[in-house]
Amino acid sequence: MMQATSEQHDEYAAAISSQIKPHKGPSKPRMFKRSIKILPSKAEVRYLPPGHMRDYWLQMNVLRDGQPPISFAQFWRVWSSEFTHLKFRQESQHAQCNECIRHKMLIKEFSSHLLARREQVRLYTEHLKAQYVDRRCYWASRGLSRMKNGAHICVIIDSMDQGKTSIPRSDLTRAKDLSTLQKPKCHLTAVIVHGWFIMMCLSDADLPKNSSVMIEIMCHVLSRLQQQSCCLAQHHLHIQCDNTPREMKNNPFMKWMAAMTGQGVLRECSLQQLRSGHSHEDIDQVFGGLATFLASKGRQAQTPDDLMAVIQNFLQDYKRPYEAGRVVLKLDGARDWCLGDRMLKCCCLIVYACGH
Ligand SMILES: [Zn+2]
Repeated sequence: MMQATSEQHDEYAAAISSQIKPHKGPSKPRMFKRSIKILPSKAEVRYLPPGHMRDYWLQMNVLRDGQPPISFAQFWRVWSSEFTHLKFRQESQHAQCNECIRHKMLIKEFSSHLLARREQVRLYTEHLKAQYVDRRCYWASRGLSRMKNGAHICVIIDSMDQGKTSIPRSDLTRAKDLSTLQKPKCHLTAVIVHGWFIMMCLSDADLPKNSSVMIEIMCHVLSRLQQQSCCLAQHHLHIQCDNTPREMKNNPFMKWMAAMTGQGVLRECSLQQLRSGHSHEDIDQVFGGLATFLASKGRQAQTPDDLMAVIQNFLQDYKRPYEAGRVVLKLDGARDWCLGDRMLKCCCLIVYACGH
């Protein structure tokens, strides 16, 4: 390198820097889309499930019984100019509804069979309508609960994905040496009592997640409602839960509900589930927010108590106008409600009272 000369001008660096475009600042809102003027809209952005504009066009034409169909060009023009607030959600990794997938595949396969395809689109639309009607039942009871009219309480309960609550969490555990470390995964169950409070229960990885634990949590919810001067005996309790038979969709929980009604603790009690694959609701939105918060602010947590403090911080700033109360609990244990003779006695009494 004795003869090496230092070049004054680096041609390689100059070529690279010439390709980088200078930053222009924030972009202006789009006014035109392929010569169609986009009308200004102040509507809130709403997200549709992952899909394509074409699916909605097909469904609309099927619903226009007897009337001439609308061309896709016209549909596209109206959507692009007046419905700019509708966006499609990105494809997610979650399992999708079996029936939706089946209909979508058949519609694709029947591309050269006009009548069969039309029939499939009709059946698919009916399925979508049916799941929407289910959802409206939940929204109706949620609305009644938020009004606090003294007759209805609506509760939604679900558990979070366990992969997000593993401990210990620190920068150290990201090391390659510790990548095979088996981390205990805490259970996090959230309950939204609409119009009253949000409660999150954290339990250790070795505590089972069965119907006894769920009954324990629901009993605690009822106790808290009573403490807040809510007269439970005059209320109808609507419980919205997941589809898994391990937690609430089972005999012990039904017995508990019967016992609560039979003993006069509650006026009525009902259990509702949305159909599998269409069960995404407001509680999953809370979990989504919490997962983002844990990824950014909860990177240091050694024990379940540390994790609880992070969840507490998340809930304090979480915006939910109707639920003022925020509760984070550590669940240490649960009674065995499945074998409790008291509950069995109650059930016997109810059966006797019914005259069977
Ligand atoms: Zn479906």
